Amino acid sequence: RAKRDGRNRYRFFDGSLDSAARRRSMIEQELAIAVAEESLSINFQPLVDAQTRTVVCAEALLRWNHPTLGAISPGEFIPIAEESGQIGAIGSWVLRKACQHAVNWPEHIRIAVNLSSRQFLSPGLLPLVESTLKQNALPAHRLELEVTESLLMEMTIGVEETLASLSKLGLRIALDDFGTGFSSLSYLRRYHFDKLKIDQSFISDLETNPDSRAIVEAVIKLARDLRMSVAAEGVETKGQFELLRHLSCGEIQGFLAGRPMPPEQFEDYLRQNSISVQRLYG
Ligand code: C2E
Ligand code: MG
Ligand code: MG
Ligand code: MG
Repeated sequence: RAKRDGRNRYRFFDGSLDSAARRRSMIEQELAIAVAEESLSINFQPLVDAQTRTVVCAEALLRWNHPTLGAISPGEFIPIAEESGQIGAIGSWVLRKACQHAVNWPEHIRIAVNLSSRQFLSPGLLPLVESTLKQNALPAHRLELEVTESLLMEMTIGVEETLASLSKLGLRIALDDFGTGFSSLSYLRRYHFDKLKIDQSFISDLETNPDSRAIVEAVIKLARDLRMSVAAEGVETKGQFELLRHLSCGEIQGFLAGRPMPPEQFEDYLRQNSISVQRLYG
């Protein structure tokens, strides 16, 4: 891996690196500017109670529209920010913005924020979360933090303590992308989560693949028996929604109920769907 210090940074562009590596180092440098100029933004995507069809939560999703490279997905730049150490600044910015917006929403709507492994590992996480909630006067029970199995896989020591002290603040912890890691079930025994988010790969072929259906059904039951709530990610069709509702899934998230939206648009969405989400009917 090429050096990252200031003096050597332009060596990235001497043509000796392949284009993937060049794009990567460019993103790393541009990200520093984006953070400084606050040219990142967040979108909010609704999570809807499958039975009542009311919005109960919104997930904050980072967006970066680069002047020349165009939209760069968080799936691409978050891992780079993780490695370069920029995730600390980005993560605290997302948390702050998310809380600032959420405090203006109806009180029953929670805000979900994704955590990356480096953020989770950082000793500054707990005081950051605590002070951000306090500064924005957001009750802790309105915040959900999403962690992934891959995050847990990278760590052994301190995970339990960190999860416990976060829970003690009164917020909720969700296990994101559930089912895609290597030892999902052992994590459920080792750690306490308030919510499971079933990965969208199980939802996308829910209607056509009996195996996916069996897994989803079992996970919903498992979550209930372990006293966790459960959400399905990537719900795109009416058929998927009806099936999940029938299986007593708690919450749904996906393009069917609503795409990730800029904050103002999300507030319009909330006003238009204040009783229940219209597009989930009929
Ligand atoms: P995730 O947390 O699992 O977020 C869900 C992803 O699924 C989002 O992709 C969302 O736009 C997408 N999605 C939602 N509904 C549908 C649907 O119906 N169909 C399909 N095909 N996709 C749907 P996005 O926004 O590109 O984010 C990708 C990942 O990047 C996230 O996965 C999360 O792991 C990470 N990420 C995003 N924002 C942040 C952040 O602020 N911090 C950290 N650490 N990671 C973030
Ligand atoms: Mg997530
Ligand atoms: Mg997810
Ligand atoms: Mg996912």
